[in-house]
Amino acid sequence: MIRDIVIYPDPILQRPTERVTEFNEELRTLAADMFESMYKAIGIGLAAPQIGVPKRVTVIDLSNQKKPEDKLVLVNPEIVHKEGKQLEDEGCLSLPDIRDKVSRAAKVKVKAQNLEGKWIELEGTDLLARAFQHEIDHLDGILFPWRLSALKRDLILRKIRKLQKTGEWK
Ligand SMILES: [Zn+2]
Repeated sequence: MIRDIVIYPDPILQRPTERVTEFNEELRTLAADMFESMYKAIGIGLAAPQIGVPKRVTVIDLSNQKKPEDKLVLVNPEIVHKEGKQLEDEGCLSLPDIRDKVSRAAKVKVKAQNLEGKWIELEGTDLLARAFQHEIDHLDGILFPWRLSALKRDLILRKIRKLQKTGEWK
């Protein structure tokens, strides 16, 4: 089922999520809904709070359905290793049309559970490393402008407030 994407400043996006303890049908449905909603919104990653579910689950698919091996579900993910630096443009489905260059680690190792509850370890570089860091931030209640300088973050928040006033912010 396609669900609406939650938009900033909804408080669910700014709170840490709860760890998943049951690996059941409900979790599988959640992951399937997240993929559907992400594909509809043309994103490459989505975190559960972005469809209104405060759970530690994220889905990523850099190829947007082109390569089945790119389809990742991460339950209770944690970054266990970071190295290097990259500075690239980043956006977020919960902050439509807002983009900025965000400094992230160039390579990360992530530990997570799959839909069966089995622990897996994944490694990502470049865009995949960026997606891991962006999505895991979501699960900790952090949005990408919070990774910018106070000046840049304030510019973005001011822009959003202006759009809210004119009714252009959805
Ligand atoms: Zn996002």
